[in-house]
Amino acid sequence: MEYYSKHISKLMEEFSRLPGIGPKSAQRLAFHVINMPEDRVEQLASAIVEAKKNIQYCKVCHTLTDQEVCPICSDPSRNHKQIMVVENSRDLAAYEKTDKFQGVYHVLHGAISPMMGVGPDDIKLKELIQRLQGDVDEVIIATNSSLEGETTAMYISKLIKPTGITVSRIASGVPVGGDLEYIDEVTLLRALEGRVTL
Ligand code: ZN
Repeated sequence: MEYYSKHISKLMEEFSRLPGIGPKSAQRLAFHVINMPEDRVEQLASAIVEAKKNIQYCKVCHTLTDQEVCPICSDPSRNHKQIMVVENSRDLAAYEKTDKFQGVYHVLHGAISPMMGVGPDDIKLKELIQRLQGDVDEVIIATNSSLEGETTAMYISKLIKPTGITVSRIASGVPVGGDLEYIDEVTLLRALEGRVTL
């Protein structure tokens, strides 16, 4: 039996597909949207559609951006010989917020996870190796300290070592299993400064 109009049910169904949204939250959000003024609803809907339409991967570092090459990669004042490898664009944003890292990034869009069936070819690893054929001094691996993050760090360091490029791993100031994006700036900076060469 349908308790609500099918439009509300559909809206709740769509919200409940989002990460972290259970049935209760989906219901709350659906009713919130219904009660919003029409122009706000249109703004919300068009922000979603426009973001999806216009955002692309940076050709160099693969972060999400609305230009072909993101502002960080096209900034000549950054040190393009120092590449920090992160799992996603949210981790990049966390390090950018510290305002202390002057190098550039490489976004993997995931981490190796044999259990979830994610292999090296499923993340932007080939693209990283290609970048290393340019002039690079150091690769700083800043994947999360989860099992997947550590597996990925080990895999990358084994790949890069024979090239003679310095490979380092951010220090363990980052709690085990912790997602970089939730860690405060001081801890992030300490982890970067205390990085160890692999
Ligand atoms: Zn970029």
